[in-house]
Amino acid sequence: MPKPIILTVDDEPQVLNAVERDLRRHYGSEYRVIKASSGTEALEAVRQLKRRNSPIALFLADQRMPTMSGTEFLAEARVLYPETRKVLLTAYADTEAAIESINTIGLDHYLMKPWDPPEQTLYPVLDDLLSDWLATVPLPYDGIRVAGTLWSPSCHRVKDFLARNRIPYQWLDIEKDGEAKALVEGLNPEGHRLPAVFFPDGDVLVEPDNLALAEKCGLQTQATQPFYDVIIVGAGPAGLGAAVYGASEGLRTLMIDREATGGQAGTSSRIENYLGFPKGLSGADLAQRATAQARRLGAEILTAREVTGVRVEDPYRFVILSDGTELECRALVIATGVTVRTLDVPGVEALNGAGVYYGAALTEAANYRDQPVFVVGGANSAGQGAMFFSRYASKVTMLVRGSALEKSMSQYLVDQISDTPGIEVLTRTEVVEAIGQDRLEAITIANKETGATRTLPAGAMFLFIGALPHSELVAGVVERNKAGFIITGPDLIQDGRRPKNWKLKRDPYLLETSVPGIFAAGDIRQGAVRRVASAVGQGANAISLVHQYLKTV
Ligand SMILES: Cc1cc2nc3c(=O)[nH]c(=O)nc-3n(C[C@H](O)[C@H](O)[C@H](O)COP(=O)(O)OP(=O)(O)OC[C@H]3O[C@@H](n4cnc5c(N)ncnc54)[C@H](O)[C@@H]3O)c2cc1C
Repeated sequence: MPKPIILTVDDEPQVLNAVERDLRRHYGSEYRVIKASSGTEALEAVRQLKRRNSPIALFLADQRMPTMSGTEFLAEARVLYPETRKVLLTAYADTEAAIESINTIGLDHYLMKPWDPPEQTLYPVLDDLLSDWLATVPLPYDGIRVAGTLWSPSCHRVKDFLARNRIPYQWLDIEKDGEAKALVEGLNPEGHRLPAVFFPDGDVLVEPDNLALAEKCGLQTQATQPFYDVIIVGAGPAGLGAAVYGASEGLRTLMIDREATGGQAGTSSRIENYLGFPKGLSGADLAQRATAQARRLGAEILTAREVTGVRVEDPYRFVILSDGTELECRALVIATGVTVRTLDVPGVEALNGAGVYYGAALTEAANYRDQPVFVVGGANSAGQGAMFFSRYASKVTMLVRGSALEKSMSQYLVDQISDTPGIEVLTRTEVVEAIGQDRLEAITIANKETGATRTLPAGAMFLFIGALPHSELVAGVVERNKAGFIITGPDLIQDGRRPKNWKLKRDPYLLETSVPGIFAAGDIRQGAVRRVASAVGQGANAISLVHQYLKTV
């Protein structure tokens, strides 16, 4: 923790130097003493310090300064630092103004100039104020702070990106926190661009994209080499499985993800069916362990980098990043997974990120403490979400189109849900509208049999409604089915014929696509069993097939 600060301001250089000297002599070992020669200069210093979240214990300001009086300075500074103790240095003629300031700006004390000897007139007063400040003011958070509004989609994106990359941060809601509001307004007076992300070194990023955030947070975003044995696109369980096995088996391995490691599994509140974890584990925990393991074994991992295309120039394969950079490899594993489907009913798109969330959005759960929460969908992921949100919400209502949960959900989850009093399940029900100005306030639901509709107050709605494959990057390169899933192995053989343009004298390997040396693993594959274990297994398996392939080129 850095030393707390004493900031003194006076326009007369001799007086300023004398105050500074006396303060340093007595407080220098425990406090950092900063001086400013005008109110404006001091205010700028206060703003800078607030951006770093540095603690200021005391303001000591001269009342008589030409452009901004001591009282005026203190009035502005206390907006950012309300708890900092405030002392005015006054001449006899300013006593009236000082007394008035006690009421108007909560002045703690005023001292007459000169203050000699300081042992009698200065230190006892300041000692009292400083020990009081130390005893009552909690030390400020010295990590990353994100300031914005709860209902802003870009604030949600930034929080989600940090959380998914397991970067701790403190959230400052400017609608509730006056200091944070003043801090943000000081940056962009109209306050349109949110969030503002404050870093401990004093840097601020306003509405940053994921790449800028990743770079500032020290995540790797650039490859160290132009050429690898294997490049893996996607760092979900399949990609992580491939990275661990690729690196541990001596392949120069690079894995690239446009968001964070962990993929969909990283957003899961509790994975209960993954081998070796009898009590289950959170997706974030699994992602962290697997990422550390892949790195330790020598895999390079790029985050916040999107692969937009793939190119083949035999015997090499190339990935093209969104900024046009190309990286070259001998074999490629596509493990880009899926995104849950979006709900196309009025109100949902506008409120996405403002009360409406796709997937588990765990970071948001605590914001809906004691509020009604709806979970849409009837598969395992919806069940897990409902169990998780029931810890916070006043009530969780599951909206399921089918006639019974048992049809689409594992029995252990159905049992957990029926044993949880805070969860209600409405079957044969769908959402027909999301209602709210800046944030979700209510939803309208319809019974599929009777057509009867009801509008219910809603804090948040979490959607778990099917999946879309992320395979655009290989469009026109490898064969995909109508829904966009990548076709691999035996599924590529139609009527005994190998895929078009296939020149080798062997059939495609189990996880190989219609282009030799390009493999697919995990949810992106046609017919995949969408489970963490099978994705991890396929990632590992893809590497053993990469070895077989590399022997032949
Ligand atoms: C909320 C939830 C709970 C779940 N719970 C369980 C459970 O309890 N048990 C279980 O077995 N399964 C569970 N699943 C399913 C499981 O998480 C998935 O089957 C698994 O994550 C699939 O892994 P994957 O690596 O194939 O794809 P994903 O996990 O989808 O990972 C794909 C990765 O690729 C990245 N990517 C996509 N396109 C690009 C691109 N163009 N460039 C760069 N990167 C890209 C994405 O950002 C993502 O990180 C759950 C899923 C969800 C959503």
